Amino acid sequence: MSAPQAPVQRADFDQVMVPNYAPAAFIPVRGAGSRVWDQSGRELIDFAGGIAVNVLGHAHPALVGALTEQANKLWHVSNVFTNEPALRLAHKLVDATFAERAFFCNSGAEANEAAFKLARRVAHDRFGPEKHEIIATVNSFHGRTLFTVSVGGQPKYSDGFGPKITGISHVPYNDLEALKAQISDKTCAVVIEPIQGESGVVPADLAYLKGARELCDKHNALLIFDEVQTGVGRTGELFAYMHYGVTPDILSSAKSLGGGFPIGAMLTTEDLAKHLAVGTHGTTYGGNPLACAVANAVLDVVNTPEVLAGVKAKHARFKARLEQIGQQYGLFTQVRGVGLLIGCVLSEAWKGKAKDVFNAAEKEGLMVLQAGPDVVRFAPSLVVEDADIDEGLDRFERAAAKLTQA
Ligand SMILES: *Cc1c(COP(=O)(O)O)cnc(C)c1O
Repeated sequence: MSAPQAPVQRADFDQVMVPNYAPAAFIPVRGAGSRVWDQSGRELIDFAGGIAVNVLGHAHPALVGALTEQANKLWHVSNVFTNEPALRLAHKLVDATFAERAFFCNSGAEANEAAFKLARRVAHDRFGPEKHEIIATVNSFHGRTLFTVSVGGQPKYSDGFGPKITGISHVPYNDLEALKAQISDKTCAVVIEPIQGESGVVPADLAYLKGARELCDKHNALLIFDEVQTGVGRTGELFAYMHYGVTPDILSSAKSLGGGFPIGAMLTTEDLAKHLAVGTHGTTYGGNPLACAVANAVLDVVNTPEVLAGVKAKHARFKARLEQIGQQYGLFTQVRGVGLLIGCVLSEAWKGKAKDVFNAAEKEGLMVLQAGPDVVRFAPSLVVEDADIDEGLDRFERAAAKLTQA
């Protein structure tokens, strides 16, 4: 039995938390599947999925089982020792992907940090210090550490924190000519989100990814796919690179990998991995038995034909209804995205007002996401029930009706 706990409310946030977030007015306290309840007992449908994290919804029995079983065995030993869940997880990822080696960490930013450090290290070892330039894309998002905001193509996240990491340039997304003009023999890596998530759910063109692969090969540069948001079933394939059929040299994963338990992974080949020799990189918590036990259970459920095919079917269900709602209320002009990463591009009249749509949806009992000011994003559980999709979209339609009539 734990001790009785002091009551807390949303207002406490402003009293005791660093004000770098602006959370919604209600506090979720419990979840089951794609439903969430707040402190007052109000029920909401969750199409936000904890920002593309709760890949199997809330309190999925397989994940609760894996976590509690591991919790009774071994929580943490650090990387001074290895552990069984980490080795099982690495085997699973290696078997399922292009990768031959895995590095575990605790977040997407850390997975990218490891990816960028590995790319620079490989170039340094093979070609010398001149070859250290990283090419990223405008409006990309790779996390919030200083290296990852420097690589991310958004000054609003990187300005005002002193000198940035240098040797990084940004080219427009989906623009192969721009990449061709920028890449050189000083380039050590090109990093691309197969679908730009945070900045509006913008899928890459196949020709762009193929072209990027060829340019990297030509210039001895590594191709890094940031699959923190697109990975682990989100697109209806285990990773988005499989959807496109273009294989990276390094892949970062996090978000859905833990289904709500913090974990990140950097995947790569044996040939590249060997450049991170003993002592060159590390993390205390990374590959923690609890996180790895949960991620093992996530992969066991997600990487099955039923779940992956279900993602494609659910995409069609979302898209058809969202297109109807968009047209009927003049709220958005385009529904884009792959699998269960879907963005509704607001119409001219509603541009910049994604937050208003978020608020209107919340009032009707629906959690959605923004992806920048102009796009409403959906990143629900991959096993969201069809009945929950329909009920959630009914709520969304009521929100759209009220918003556009007001
Ligand atoms: C969320 C995200 C990150 C950062 O992940 P954190 O776990 O928040 O550090 C990096 N890249 C992409 C594409 C993301 O969507």
